[in-house]
Amino acid sequence: MELICHRVSIPLKTPFVTSFGAQDYRVALVFEMKHKGITAFSEAVTDKGPFYSYEDNTTAFHIIEAYLAEHISDAPEPSEFLERARYVKGHLMAKAALEMLLWDYHAKEEGTPLYRYIGQTNGKAQVGISIGMATPEEMRKQTSKAVEMGYKRIKVKIKKGREEEIVRNVRSSIGDFPLSVDANTDFTLEDTDALRALDKFNLVYMEQPLDHDDIIDHAELAKRIRTPICLDESIVSTDRARKAIQSKACTVINIKPGRVSGFSESLSIAKMAREHGIHTWVGGMLETGVGRAFNISLASSAYIDFPGDTSPNEKYFEKDIVKNPFEMDDGFITPMEGPGIGVEIDRERLEKVTIDRVRLL
Ligand SMILES: [Mg+2]
Repeated sequence: MELICHRVSIPLKTPFVTSFGAQDYRVALVFEMKHKGITAFSEAVTDKGPFYSYEDNTTAFHIIEAYLAEHISDAPEPSEFLERARYVKGHLMAKAALEMLLWDYHAKEEGTPLYRYIGQTNGKAQVGISIGMATPEEMRKQTSKAVEMGYKRIKVKIKKGREEEIVRNVRSSIGDFPLSVDANTDFTLEDTDALRALDKFNLVYMEQPLDHDDIIDHAELAKRIRTPICLDESIVSTDRARKAIQSKACTVINIKPGRVSGFSESLSIAKMAREHGIHTWVGGMLETGVGRAFNISLASSAYIDFPGDTSPNEKYFEKDIVKNPFEMDDGFITPMEGPGIGVEIDRERLEKVTIDRVRLL
């Protein structure tokens, strides 16, 4: 068994601006595992700093190196790995990186594409787009272009104090087209009036307006506004999703496998949501082509019903680390047919964007 962590830094085409800051590079941990003639890949969704959640690249690397890597030395089933890793509290992004590596490995071992390996599939993913904050003119330009390109839903990032101006501007640019907003935790219950003012824009949903680990206040907000609430940061597990659903804190869930300890938990959340009539979709964390391939496989699952933030890679990067990036056709992306995640690593490009590399096993 060989396990390598490549730390890569890839420039973004344009800075991605959210309520927690602007990002102009994606610094990612890409994992490569070689075992019995199979090479598997995965990616941690952590970034340079703990701004989306408490984990970042440094904590994820530390947790993986010190506590998790040893538990995959015999390439166990993903569920077995999670069981072994239970004694490590939290650090779900670190766990997800290895859990997903094992899904790619086992799908490759069977010679099956990951999207089929995980079970019931639609065979393709509905694609939406997430657009960061920019000048009003720029946002009108980007959102109109997204409609023309065939995306199934547009999501724009909002920030406290600018929410109504942003939504009004975008709405006037795209008419009735399905639109949602993502606040990335920027509001509190005290901002109820400002959030209620968005009801008139007929949004598909409002994503994570309140704190990153909150359920209770979201349940209260859901009673006060008409716009459906989607939870992202707050949903870290099936158990947390159950609590959110039971307390009526949301009617939509954004599932990011990299946030919820991987594919096992993602599928479990999606199935439970389906049973309760809750909508689900697959979010993104500016992943390279490796992480994106996982997201698209999951977004093709029959248990996922809303379009995800799974734009083709060229939206964010000039050049990715995979040779066969995804292409969108009429608002859909078809997963790769090769075994596992199906993407082919561009070794030359990977070499060029690698900051450092550590062998863990
Ligand atoms: Mg979000």
